[in-house]
Amino acid sequence: QMRRDFIANVSHEIRTPLTVVAGFVESLLEMDLPADERRRCLEMAQRQTATMQRLVEDLLTLATLESASQPAATTPVQVEPLLQALLADVRALSGGRHAFALRVESPGALLGTPGELDSAVRNLLTNAVRYTPDGGAITVTWKVVDGEGRLAVRDTGIGIAAEHLPRLTERFYRVDRGRSRETGGTGLGLAIVKHIAQRHGARLDVESRIGAGSTFSLRFPPSRVTLAPAAEAARPAQESAA
Ligand code: ADP
Repeated sequence: QMRRDFIANVSHEIRTPLTVVAGFVESLLEMDLPADERRRCLEMAQRQTATMQRLVEDLLTLATLESASQPAATTPVQVEPLLQALLADVRALSGGRHAFALRVESPGALLGTPGELDSAVRNLLTNAVRYTPDGGAITVTWKVVDGEGRLAVRDTGIGIAAEHLPRLTERFYRVDRGRSRETGGTGLGLAIVKHIAQRHGARLDVESRIGAGSTFSLRFPPSRVTLAPAAEAARPAQESAA
């Protein structure tokens, strides 16, 4: 049944943008549109194509994660540079509409598969931007508590009602289909994050309230965390946590 549902969902997700593209192509072929109208059609078709591309990429990512027979690697990934690089990317996506903050309380490394760790945090950050209205704030924190690594992405966005929380990581589950589509969502981001978390022995926690924003946290077990040698004793927190 799950397999059938999945295939039905994927087909639907592809058909929707494909229908739009087909419509625009038909208009362009059959109507003698003025140049600006033609351009508008092409731009809309381009947006739908980009959505389909993201969908296929996310499906391939999920398939790769699911077919992996080995647990995640144990390559050290320095957390602060990773978060800085991701924040630079996501700042560009926000285009100045949001304020960003990074708080690294315990410099150190995660032991994992670098590309997967990048992808998991990127998905959380992209969602924070997409579900936070202009003028909102997005804060990323990393700390180590009792050996456990805690990475959190907090936003001051639209929030999520409690009844949806248990289902968010299901493939194609969305609270608001329209908003997800408008902002280029595939409905697969959190399913990918959950898979990556599992492969690293980590847990994904979500705290949220409608209108008050959301916090998505990844908790990594001590076996996946190393503290930077200088951090253990001397170095004070870079910025106090809120
Ligand atoms: P999508 O591509 O639709 O964003 P995801 O799997 O990334 O798919 O997320 C599933 C759903 O969870 C989203 O459609 C949205 O309703 C909700 N969601 C995810 N992140 C946030 C967030 N930071 N704030 C509010 N809602 C969120």
